[in-house]
Amino acid sequence: MHILVIGGAGYIGSHVVKELLQHGVQVTVFDDMSTGQNENLFPQAAFIKGDILDVSALEAVMNGVDGVVHLAAKKAVGESMEHPEKYAVNNITGTLNILNVMAKCGVKNFVFSSSAAVYGMPQYVPVDEKHPTEPINFYGFTKLEIERFLPWYGNLKGINWIALRYFNAVGYDADGDVKGLEKNPQNLLPIVMETAVGIRQGMKIFGNDYDTEDGTCVRDYIHVSDLASAHWLALDYLSKGGSSQSLNLGTGKGISVWEMVKATERLSGQKVNYDFSERRAGDPSLLVAASDTANAVLGWKPVHSDLDNIIRTTWAMYQK
Ligand code: UDP
Repeated sequence: MHILVIGGAGYIGSHVVKELLQHGVQVTVFDDMSTGQNENLFPQAAFIKGDILDVSALEAVMNGVDGVVHLAAKKAVGESMEHPEKYAVNNITGTLNILNVMAKCGVKNFVFSSSAAVYGMPQYVPVDEKHPTEPINFYGFTKLEIERFLPWYGNLKGINWIALRYFNAVGYDADGDVKGLEKNPQNLLPIVMETAVGIRQGMKIFGNDYDTEDGTCVRDYIHVSDLASAHWLALDYLSKGGSSQSLNLGTGKGISVWEMVKATERLSGQKVNYDFSERRAGDPSLLVAASDTANAVLGWKPVHSDLDNIIRTTWAMYQK
């Protein structure tokens, strides 16, 4: 099997590449290196630097591949609300370019990195795939918009697809084979880590008056190596004629911001300076996934996502 991994030099993409290589897949990485990193490239995978807005570059790499994993997206929620145009062009136009080139070249199997952001404010938890999709930020809108195109491209162009709705991606490869630290991280755990190593003087915990056990927000943190395994399983499933659908990827277990900070202090031996500040707009108090469908359809189960392993594998990277 020869798979084109678009965005394969990024944080999640590089873990996906490692997983595919371990299953004997021939991998070509296509990445514009805007956030991808050279240290994340594996010598066993071919690498082409290119932009998903460049249709001829996509055509040049598409011939002869059996499937595409697409993770090349802009993903900063705040930025998406300030510069929706960037997100429209990159996440929507760019993905449509990929689908159109796949259709032209007869490539049938597509695994799309989607997000829990398609759901918006949870109306119930755990959130399953039947939960209403009402994104509250433009990033989530772009992901949902592509999910709405996919059944059409399935029916009209014969593209089989799985959209993987990631909850909160965290952690690093336990073997240290992915070497690039995410640049300019915007998410909780890297911010906690940067505070623990002293890159930041302190951090803010956004709200401690939520209706949760310790008052801070609860999220479903899923280890990136568990996300990676789902991509392999999805490709394998599609290659055997599996049916197109969207699947949640989470653990079903919630961890609070406070627990994340305290676990980092415990496992790193470093103090994390934090202040409680105002709630951040748009944050639900509790968001956890029901991933029973991914388990039933793909046989997927998270095995790397316990809190200690999440912290240990991340801390190991920040110590370097
Ligand atoms: N958070 C925080 N301080 C920070 C960054 C995040 O308290 O500096 C909280 C945020 O309010 C949310 C949780 O950490 O409750 C996870 O936020 P993140 O931005 O990582 O992911 P999200 O759940 O928003 O996709």
